[in-house]
Amino acid sequence: MARAAGVVVVGASIAGLTVVEELRSKGFGGPITLLESEDTAGYSRPLLSKGVLAGEGDPSTALLPAPEDLGVDVLRGTSARGLDLDRNLVELDGDALPFDKLVVATGARALTLHDLGANDDCVPEVVLRTMDDAVRLRDLLGSARTVLVVGGGVLGMEVASAASSKGLAVTVVDRGAPMARTGGAFLSRMVSACARERGVQLVSAPEGARLVERDSRPAVVAGGHLLEADVVVTAVGCRPNVEWLARTGLSLSPGVVVDNRCRVREHIAAAGDVVSVEGSRRQPHWSTALDQARVAADVLLYGDDASPYINRPYFWTDQFGLSVKFAGRPTSDDPELVDGSQDTLSGLWRWTDAGHPHAAVAINRRIPIARLLHTAGHS
Ligand SMILES: Cc1cc2nc3c(=O)[nH]c(=O)nc-3n(C[C@H](O)[C@H](O)[C@H](O)COP(=O)(O)OP(=O)(O)OC[C@H]3O[C@@H](n4cnc5c(N)ncnc54)[C@H](O)[C@@H]3O)c2cc1C
Repeated sequence: MARAAGVVVVGASIAGLTVVEELRSKGFGGPITLLESEDTAGYSRPLLSKGVLAGEGDPSTALLPAPEDLGVDVLRGTSARGLDLDRNLVELDGDALPFDKLVVATGARALTLHDLGANDDCVPEVVLRTMDDAVRLRDLLGSARTVLVVGGGVLGMEVASAASSKGLAVTVVDRGAPMARTGGAFLSRMVSACARERGVQLVSAPEGARLVERDSRPAVVAGGHLLEADVVVTAVGCRPNVEWLARTGLSLSPGVVVDNRCRVREHIAAAGDVVSVEGSRRQPHWSTALDQARVAADVLLYGDDASPYINRPYFWTDQFGLSVKFAGRPTSDDPELVDGSQDTLSGLWRWTDAGHPHAAVAINRRIPIARLLHTAGHS
C-alpha cells in the first residue's frame, strides 16, 4: 500500500473523530488516515442505551459527523493488528501503514463475566457496546417478559430502566448498591428508590454473580439463589482495546499509559476509553474522550507548548425518570442542597470538604456543564 505518511488515527469513534476535527480546525492540512475495525459509519454510544434501546427513533439518529468531509482518508472495516515502533508502521492484515505521527483511539469493549472468571461454562453473554449489540438487545427485549441485568453501574441501570419502561419484569444484581461506585451513596439511594418504585428488584450479591446454563437458557447464581430470566444482560464494565500494542513494550495496564499531555511517545498520542493517564484511574466517559482527544491533537501539533490535560471528572445518565449530571468524585457523605428540592427530585447538590467543593450533581435540572463543574470546584 503506497501512502503518504502524515497522521494516522486508529479508532474512528468520538475520540478519533475529535482528534481529526481538532487537527483540521487548528490548520493541519497534511494527510490524515483514520482506521476503523467496524465497517459502518461512526455512532454515539451514549444514545445506544437511551434512544436506540428504548426504540425511540431510527438508529441513524445516533450517527456521528462523517470524518470524510474533513478531507480524511477513512479505512473502515480495517483493524490495526500491530505497531512497529522502530519503523513507524501500523500493521494491518498482510499490509502496513506508515505514519509520521500516530493517535491511539481504539477505545474499549465490553467486559464479560467470562473475562472475570464467573462464566466457566462459556454461556454466550449479551452485552451492550456496539450498534449491533443495541439492535440485538432491543429485539430481544421486544419478545421477553423478564430480564436480569448483572451490574448496577450507569450502563446496567440504563438497560434496566429501558427494559422496565417497556413493561418487563426487571432484576438487577450487583456486588453493592446500584450506582454507588460511580455516583456515591446519595445518588445510589435516589436511583434505587426510583427503580424500586417502578417494580425493579435490586439484588445485592457481595460475592459476585455467576453465569450458568439451565435448560439451555442463561441463569445467574447470586447470594446462593438461582435467578432466571428470558434475557440476561452483562453490564460489568469495559476493557481497553490494547492487544494490538502487545509487542511494543509500551505500558498497557490498565490502558495505554499517557503523560499529562496525552503522549505515549514524542510522536504518538492516545485519547479516550483506551487511555490510562499516568497517576490517575481510568475514566471511560464521553467528555473525558473529548477532552483528551483535543489535547492529543494539540500535543502532536505543538509538543510541550500544548496545554496539559486537565482532569474534569464528569458524566451524565438518564434512568428511571432521573436526568443526572455528575461532576467530581463521589463520596459516601450527604451533599448540601444548592437549589431545588429533594421532594420534587429536581435540584443541584454539592459536596464540600472543609468548605471546599469537590463534587456536584444536578438532577432533572438544566444546567450548563461549565456551571456544574464550577459548583463542583473543577472550573
Ligand atoms: C451503551 C453505552 C452508553 C454510554 N453512555 C454514556 C453516558 O451516558 N455518558 C458518558 O459519559 N459516557 C457514556 N458511555 C461511554 C462513552 O460512550 C465512551 O466513553 C466513548 O464512546 C469513548 O470513546 P472512544 O472513542 O475512546 O472509544 P470507543 O467509543 O470505544 O471507540 C473506539 C473505536 O475504535 C475501534 N477499534 C478498536 N480496536 C481497533 C483496531 N485494532 N483497529 C481499528 N479500530 C479499532 C472500535 O471499533 C471503535 O469504533 C457509554 C458507553 C456505552 C457503550
